[in-house]
Amino acid sequence: MFSKRVRNLTPYVPGEQPQDRKYIKLNTNENPYPPSPRIGDFLKRFDVERLRLYPDPIFHGLREKLARRYGLKKENVFVSNGSDEALSFAFYAFFDSSLGRLLLPEFTYSFYPVYCDFYGIEYKKIPLNHNFLVDIEGFLKEPRSCGVIFANPNAPTGTCLTLEEIVRLLDRYPRDRVVVVDEAYIDFGGESVLSLIGKNRNLLIMRTFSKSMSLAGLRVGFTMGDEELVEALFTVKDAFNSYPVDMLAQAIAEIAIEDEAYYKFIIERIIETRDHFSLELSRLGWNVLPSKANFVFAEKMGISGGEVYRKLKERGILVRYFPIEGIKDFVRITIGKKEEMDRLLEEVKALFP
Ligand code: PMP
Repeated sequence: MFSKRVRNLTPYVPGEQPQDRKYIKLNTNENPYPPSPRIGDFLKRFDVERLRLYPDPIFHGLREKLARRYGLKKENVFVSNGSDEALSFAFYAFFDSSLGRLLLPEFTYSFYPVYCDFYGIEYKKIPLNHNFLVDIEGFLKEPRSCGVIFANPNAPTGTCLTLEEIVRLLDRYPRDRVVVVDEAYIDFGGESVLSLIGKNRNLLIMRTFSKSMSLAGLRVGFTMGDEELVEALFTVKDAFNSYPVDMLAQAIAEIAIEDEAYYKFIIERIIETRDHFSLELSRLGWNVLPSKANFVFAEKMGISGGEVYRKLKERGILVRYFPIEGIKDFVRITIGKKEEMDRLLEEVKALFP
């Protein structure tokens, strides 16, 4: 009854979305603040009659607004059902292991190897350097590869490369192989590679409305890159599903992208809370990696990530840990509201003195 393909699949496991009780939920990097208030006003006035029609299959309005915002042409922008979908299209469109293996960091977004297995792409994990940073030199040392993908800021570490470091990779990496930089968390203080589009025709940037725009439930992502790469993503999309992003999602994302002032305000609050929380946690004797994301990756000597997770869960706080050799002592903590992080600090003080 089942194909061999599906029997061999190992799916990605997303963070828990518990239904049993109310937690302080710091496990899936959601934004603790509501999305733009303009969205509520729009929904109140929305004419339901519009839902009779199919949505725009080429995301005209949203791509136009994104292009204006980021100083690009509409042809440089692709839109998807969350950035996960665009990632999967990119793996399908650009990575062909007959040319060599795909290079990715040893610890990074764990969906990447899942897509590799799904599409039969061979890959090689490149260890992080001693500072838990994505190792550009490690990528460049590999003699044969069909492409590179990494997140910047990286997940789950939160560490971030500078523009200069990524330029070093792009300058020395073959121009006919695609380099994907997943900037899901870039709005929280990292340096984007956006300015390199135009110069580097093999560069693809992944972004999402799920984190900084507080719209994880809407499922909208976007990708920026050379026109030819964007065209290839449309080809893959149109071979799967003409309408992956529904009409409401497109309209709401358009409203969000225009409300720059509101988002600037909530993002600044998250950054402030993150920096304060990181400092306080390190004062309690934790090793906290420097983060440019809306989460921190931290460990306390002598306690496993699993134990921290379990004890905090009993106290009504959810964080995430990864039972993988090399990072199993860490927990990844999403930055919530200031009050939530203060409560977490109190619990940490009491549970892990
Ligand atoms: N990239 C990274 C690095 C992520 O952590 C996530 C969130 N799980 C995504 C992409 C996907 O985000 P979404 O599909 O919600 O846009």
